[in-house]
Amino acid sequence: MTTKVNSYHIEVGGLSVEVVRKDIKNFYIGVHPPKGRIRVSAPLRLDDDAIRMAVISRLGWIRRQQATFAGQERQSQREFVTGESHYFEGKRYRLDVIERDCPPRVWLRNNTRIGLSVRPGSDRETREAVVHRWYRQHLRTELPPLLEKWEAKLDVSVNEVRIKKMKTLWGSCNVEAKRIWINLELAKKPNSCLVYILVHEMVHLLERNHNDRFRELMDKFLPQWRTYRDQLNRAPLAYEDWGY
Ligand SMILES: [Zn+2]
Repeated sequence: MTTKVNSYHIEVGGLSVEVVRKDIKNFYIGVHPPKGRIRVSAPLRLDDDAIRMAVISRLGWIRRQQATFAGQERQSQREFVTGESHYFEGKRYRLDVIERDCPPRVWLRNNTRIGLSVRPGSDRETREAVVHRWYRQHLRTELPPLLEKWEAKLDVSVNEVRIKKMKTLWGSCNVEAKRIWINLELAKKPNSCLVYILVHEMVHLLERNHNDRFRELMDKFLPQWRTYRDQLNRAPLAYEDWGY
């Protein structure tokens, strides 16, 4: 027996499944966005036939996950045209696009609409860039007071918070540089989610790993953190595990 991780692919029901054998107790299966890649972590004691059977028994679930991701991919291909739904601070708004020969801008109207003014003939990329710049400005305004408040509470100091569009992470923390990255997508989520991610990353300055101490610190500073985490994860479950 070895604890060395090795990964290979098997074919199950016409699907390619990445298998990672590890010195673990339980069998895990994950379907990962955006393409619905299937990855299995299996205990060393399971052979390929047992893994195949376990995957077959979950084919329905796997296909549903993949369909959801395919739908999300389509949905995320926003056109930034009038009538489309866009999110801001956890609320859904209807987009109104106006073509005007003046500097592009975005504003909120009647609590139900996001106005977007662009120059005539602006393409999709330009319209998207204007909205993203607006999201970024929003986070840049929200973050400094939050940072100040939580630096005092946690008794840590952060050198820099940067905002970035990220595919797989809500935030990240470079502990050595004391630099935190926040996902631009958080502008679309309720403010409590932004707070949760910021505090989570700041707690990494006290505890690098997601261990018991980390969870204790989160419980102490932000007792409802699990609610916010679930809110962020309510977007389709990408991961499921069960005892085998
Ligand atoms: Zn973390």
